[in-house]
Amino acid sequence: MSTLLTQSVTAITGIGEETAELLADLDIFTIKDLLEYFPYRYEDYRLRDLADVKHDEKVTIEGKVHSEPSLVYFGRKRSRLTVRVLVDRYLINVVFFNQPYLKNKMAINEPITVTGKWDQHRQTITANEAKINNQQPNKTDFVPVYHIRGKITTKGIRRFIQLAISQFGHDMEENLPQEFLRKYKLMNRRDALRALHFPLSSEDVKQARRRFVYEEFLLFQIKMQALRKFERENSLGISLAYKLDQLKNFIEKLPFPLTNAQKRVVNEILGDLKSPFRMNRLLQGDVGSGKTVVAAICLFASVSAGFQGALMVPTEILAEQHAESLQQLLHPWGIQCELLTSSIKGKERKRILEQLQQGEINILIGTHALIQDEVVFKNLGLVITDEQHRFGVEQRRVLREKGENPDVLFMTATPIPRTLAITVFGEMDVSIIDEMPAGRKAIETFWAKQNMIDRVLGFMEKELSQGRQAYVICPLIEESEKLDVQNAIDIHSMLTQYFQNRFQVGLMHGRLSSNEKEEVMRAFSGNALQVLVSTTVVEVGVNVPNATFMLIYDAERFGLSQLHQLRGRVGRGQEQSYCILLADPKTDVGKERMKIMTETNDGFVLSEKDLELRGPGDFFGKKQSGLPEFKVADMVHDYRALETARDDASKLIQSETFWHSPDYLPLREFLQQSGVMAGEKLD
Ligand code: ADP
Ligand code: MG
Repeated sequence: MSTLLTQSVTAITGIGEETAELLADLDIFTIKDLLEYFPYRYEDYRLRDLADVKHDEKVTIEGKVHSEPSLVYFGRKRSRLTVRVLVDRYLINVVFFNQPYLKNKMAINEPITVTGKWDQHRQTITANEAKINNQQPNKTDFVPVYHIRGKITTKGIRRFIQLAISQFGHDMEENLPQEFLRKYKLMNRRDALRALHFPLSSEDVKQARRRFVYEEFLLFQIKMQALRKFERENSLGISLAYKLDQLKNFIEKLPFPLTNAQKRVVNEILGDLKSPFRMNRLLQGDVGSGKTVVAAICLFASVSAGFQGALMVPTEILAEQHAESLQQLLHPWGIQCELLTSSIKGKERKRILEQLQQGEINILIGTHALIQDEVVFKNLGLVITDEQHRFGVEQRRVLREKGENPDVLFMTATPIPRTLAITVFGEMDVSIIDEMPAGRKAIETFWAKQNMIDRVLGFMEKELSQGRQAYVICPLIEESEKLDVQNAIDIHSMLTQYFQNRFQVGLMHGRLSSNEKEEVMRAFSGNALQVLVSTTVVEVGVNVPNATFMLIYDAERFGLSQLHQLRGRVGRGQEQSYCILLADPKTDVGKERMKIMTETNDGFVLSEKDLELRGPGDFFGKKQSGLPEFKVADMVHDYRALETARDDASKLIQSETFWHSPDYLPLREFLQQSGVMAGEKLD
C-alpha cells in the first residue's frame, strides 16, 4: 500500500493539530483512516410523489407557494409559519417552527422545495429545511451521515473527508485482484470510495457498498483460511492409524444402518484422524440427527489405533447418559469407558485417575472435570466435546493441550447459521449431518395463550392416559436461578394437585444435588414418574423416547434455537409427539417467533431466523462470541457475498500462484500486516 496514506491526517492541507485531535476521538489517525471512515446512512433528498409517502415519513417535495404565509408568535422566540403549497395536484400545508425570517422570502406562485416529516392526516409537512425561489440547488440528492462523537460536527467531518479525497483520493490503490473486479463487475476502490462519500445516486451507493462488502469479506476469509493453513502445516498432530477392518465390523454390528449424512461425516472425520495434521473440526447436527453414534465410531477408531479418547459434555446428567450409551456400544469390543464427574470422589476417583494414566481406561467421559490438572492421560489421541458453544474458548484450549496435540472434534446441536459458522468458525473445518434417521415423525408444535391452560392440560392428560410421558418446562428468568427454581416448585405443586394420584409428577432444577438429579432422571427414564417439571437443565441431550409431550411455559422468553433444543427432548421414539408453547408475546417479533416455531422443525431454518430477529451479537448470548466487526458489510444481510468470498478465498489460498503472482501482492501484504504470515512466504 502507498505509504502516503499511512501518514498522519495532518499531512492534509487544511487539517492541523487541533483537527487531528478531534479526529482521534473517532479513532481516525491516518489519511487512510479518514478516507475509510464511511457514512452509516444517507439523507435522501430525492423528490417523491406524495401519494407514495407514508404517514410520519421524511420526504422532500417541490411545489409552488399557493397563498400568503401566516406567521404566529408564541412568546418572544417561538413562532410558527404556515404556508399553503401546491404540489402537483395536491394542496398541502407546510409548517416552519421558529424561522420567521422565511416569510419575506416567499412569494405566491414562486417555486419552493421543502424537506420534512409528512403528516398524512393533516396533509402537512413539518419542514426542517427549505429552498425558496432560485436558491442554489443541492449538488446531490444523497447526503452522507457519519457517526460523530466529541466536538466534531457532521459538517466538519464531511469537510475533512472532502479535503482528504481531493488531495489523496488518487493515491488509494486497488487491493482486489482484477479477475474478481471483472467477474463480479465491482467498482474499483478509488471510485467506490468517492461514491460512498459523495454519491451521485442511490445506485452509486449500492454499487460502492457492494464492492466494499466483498472486499471486507474476502480479506477476512483470506486471513482465516491462511491461519488454518499455517496452523495445519506447523502444528503436527498425531496420525491415528485405526484398524479399518475392526471399524467396519463395529459399524455393521450397530443396531441400525447409518444415514448417508452420518456416513459422510464419519468419512470426513476419519480422514482427519489418519492425517498427520491436528484435526480442528466442528460437527453440526440437529437434535436427534445421531451425533452420539458418530462420536462412538470415532472413539472406537482412536482406540483401535492404540490411543485414548475423551468425551466432554456440559452437564453431569448428559455425561452419565453418554457414558451409559457408549459403554453399551463399546464394552462388547473390550473397550474400557469410564465416567468422571465432580461427584465421583475418594477411592473411586483415585482408581479412575490411576487407570487412566496407565492406559487401562480407553475412553473417559465427563464434564469440565476432565480438564483439571490431576487428570492425566497416557496417550490421548482424540477429544470430542458435545455442545461446544457452552464451553469457553479457554476451556477448549486447555483441553486441546492435554496430550500431544490430540485431534479435536466439537459437536453441537445448536445449528449455527451458515453465516455465523463461516465467520466465527472460519478457521475450523465443518461437517454437517443434514439428515434425520428414517421413520422419525415430525413433532407437532402448537402455540397457546396462557388462558388456554385448561385445554392444554386436558390434552396432556390424554397423552398420559395412553401410557406416554411429558415434560413441563418452566419459565426462564434471566439471571435469577432462585426465581427459576421457585417457578418450578410452584408449577410442580400445581400439577401434583391437578393429576392427584393418576400420574406421578417429578421435579428437576439446578439447585438439586447431582445425586438428586440423577435419581429424578432415573425415575423419569424408568416411567416411575410420568411428568417431569423442569427448568432448562433438561435442555441438552437427555433421551427418554417414551416422552411424547412437552409444555413450555412463557415460551417467548426463550431464543428460537433454545426452544428447538428443548423441543428435541420429545419426538425420540416411534409415537407422534407434541410441543405446546404457552406464550402471550406482546410484540410483532414475539408473535412471529412463536409462529415460526409452529411452522418448522428444521433447526437450521430456526437458527437463521433467530439470527435475523435478534442479530449476531445476541445470538450466542454472551459477549464472548468473538464475532468480527465489519465497517460496511453485514453478516446477516450480505451472507451470499460472504459465501462467495469464502469460496474465492479458499481457492486462492490453495493455489500456488497466490503465493507468487504479482496480482495478489496486495492481498499477501495484507496477510503480513495482520500478522498471519511470517515474511518468508513472500517473494
Ligand atoms: P443427537 O444428534 O441429538 O445427539 P442422538 O445421537 O442422541 O442424537 O440420536 C438420537 C436417537 O436416534 C438415538 O436414540 C439413536 O440411537 C438414534 N439413531 C442415531 N442414528 C440412527 C440411525 N442411523 N438410524 C436410526 N436411529 C438412529
Ligand atoms: Mg447428543
